[in-house]
Amino acid sequence: MNPPAHLPSPTDDPQSAAHQVLSAVFGYTAFRGQQADIVEQVAAGGDALVLMPTGGGKSLCYQVPAILRHQRGQGVAIVVSPLIALMHDQVGALEEAGVHAAFLNSSLTGEEASRIEREMMSGRLTLLYAAPERITTPRFLAQLSSLHERGLLSMFAIDEAHCVSQWGHDFRSEYLQLSLLHERFPDVPRVALTATADELTRADIIERLQLQEARVFISSFDRPNIRYLIVEKNGSPREQLLRFVRDEHEGEAGVVYCQSRKKVEETAQWLQSEGLNALPYHAGLDADMRRRHQDRFLREDDLIMVATIAFGMGIDKPDVRFVAHLDLPKNIEAYYQETGRAGRDGAPAEAWMTYGLADVVNQRRMIDESPADETFKQGQRGKLDALLALAEATDCRRVRLLAYFGEESRPCGNCDNCLNPPQTWDATEAARKLLSCIYRFHQRGERFGAGHLIDVLRGKATDKTRQYGHESLSTWGCGADLSEQQWRAVLRQLIALGHVATEGEFNTLALQDSARAVLKGEVEVRLREAEEKKSRAKSSRGGARPRIDPALGLDAEGQERFEALKAWRSEVAKEHGLPAYVIFQNTTLAEMARVVPGDLAELGEISGVGAKKLEAYGREILRVLGR
Ligand code: ADP
Ligand code: ZN
Repeated sequence: MNPPAHLPSPTDDPQSAAHQVLSAVFGYTAFRGQQADIVEQVAAGGDALVLMPTGGGKSLCYQVPAILRHQRGQGVAIVVSPLIALMHDQVGALEEAGVHAAFLNSSLTGEEASRIEREMMSGRLTLLYAAPERITTPRFLAQLSSLHERGLLSMFAIDEAHCVSQWGHDFRSEYLQLSLLHERFPDVPRVALTATADELTRADIIERLQLQEARVFISSFDRPNIRYLIVEKNGSPREQLLRFVRDEHEGEAGVVYCQSRKKVEETAQWLQSEGLNALPYHAGLDADMRRRHQDRFLREDDLIMVATIAFGMGIDKPDVRFVAHLDLPKNIEAYYQETGRAGRDGAPAEAWMTYGLADVVNQRRMIDESPADETFKQGQRGKLDALLALAEATDCRRVRLLAYFGEESRPCGNCDNCLNPPQTWDATEAARKLLSCIYRFHQRGERFGAGHLIDVLRGKATDKTRQYGHESLSTWGCGADLSEQQWRAVLRQLIALGHVATEGEFNTLALQDSARAVLKGEVEVRLREAEEKKSRAKSSRGGARPRIDPALGLDAEGQERFEALKAWRSEVAKEHGLPAYVIFQNTTLAEMARVVPGDLAELGEISGVGAKKLEAYGREILRVLGR
């Protein structure tokens, strides 16, 4: 089998052959992190388990070995991928790069599927993507056997490998069947890839996929280009969101996570009414609309997807510039996964969350009211506590995040706390006042929620304070020196610390055992200063924020060239029915606009321009650049 002319010819040295593929096919100059070692291991026929954060570059870890093995006449690599919706774009990207790839799934007509099966059975195909349920059918296994007998089954790549684990968050029973592959074809190398970090899931993947012999590659889970920002809710969270988007991300793509479908709809509508390009996404929308919205997100540069957690798995759009949370996620794993969808291209991106008292109360209540057994609930509470501690932290957010995943690190200089160290104040007295006020209610056999408690502390007379005779309590008005917002912060943090719990339908407040030590003055309570809008002003004035636009640094003419290239790209993308970034990423276009290559050879030097794209688009690009 002859490789197409633009692919490098095989050489004996595996290292340099891999580099040739990297530069000729993908247009990149160097492997990132552990990519080179992984490629070497798999290309040589070994098994690998790859743990790499989102955006780390997992795709190349199986695509490059697949290309190398195909060049050596070893046939077709089978890629197991859980999401039909995304195979199309992945295959499109490979074909654009000149690699013969295809997918088999239910979206194909019978005729198309037979054509692809013929391509596969002849061994001409380099990579074939399919969902696990197809791969484990008797028919498909028989086809694999036939390929294998002829030495044309080159390797297996199992993407999103955590789906095999019941501990993971996306368990799929079809994944369990994949152990068949190893039983039937023990000599065919396998690489399993996932971005899910925790120990338990890892062990589970190894066991269930029988990867005991595999080399395990664990990358750091740090995403240095993501800036973490957690702000306190004040008044209108969606106004805060709007300000964040307008100030920092106008015209950029982002995801806004909300807990409920209703809030998703309302928020998307409201952003639209404010003139932003926003769409809703949740499991209650019909399949067709979900697909349309997802498609638009992948294809448009400036779309904000307002979504429940139903959205996101497998979305590999590289230029998502921000992920915003209007509600608290379930735990740190979820927070990290959701925020990890920002900045896959390695350019600066932001993870922004606004949170407040109601979030803490709601999340606790959801756990309490869930039908799960008490041990499970206890586990969930522990995870929520870790997330609350992150939200209330006054030290580096990244250090805490990574520590949660078992990694040690130093203060990052790229989170809100590092950039604007928050003021803290000694809230021991305030905390004691608040706790003793709840204690007075308890003594009288009464339970109240936050609003009334704060009224009593601040001495604000209402019908209710009169009705219950609370104006004669010893704690009446003892906290008039703090604002309502400040009291909410104190209460939120006391709940987060577990000194106060909320109960029942009305979220009434109850003292917990640990409150005793605070009441007695045995523990100091230090709290974050309530923000009162100051941080935004500081951060914009401070100018420390990374500029995110890849076109930044271009002069006016460079900007024009960049825009012209984008316009050209969007035509090509439309013609090919692919997202624009599959043709070229923004960073590649910006580099072209900056360098203004004089000829094809110079254009080929730019990162992201491989041989096939150079051949297909080189002249056009030079024309757009006026060369
Ligand atoms: P993951 O699947 O781990 O989330 P991807 O494989 O989608 O990550 O890669 C993320 C981004 O990084 C993609 O835009 C990809 O083209 C780019 N990338 C990966 N490896 C390299 C490399 N060695 N050099 C330059 N860009 C790379
Ligand atoms: Zn930091």
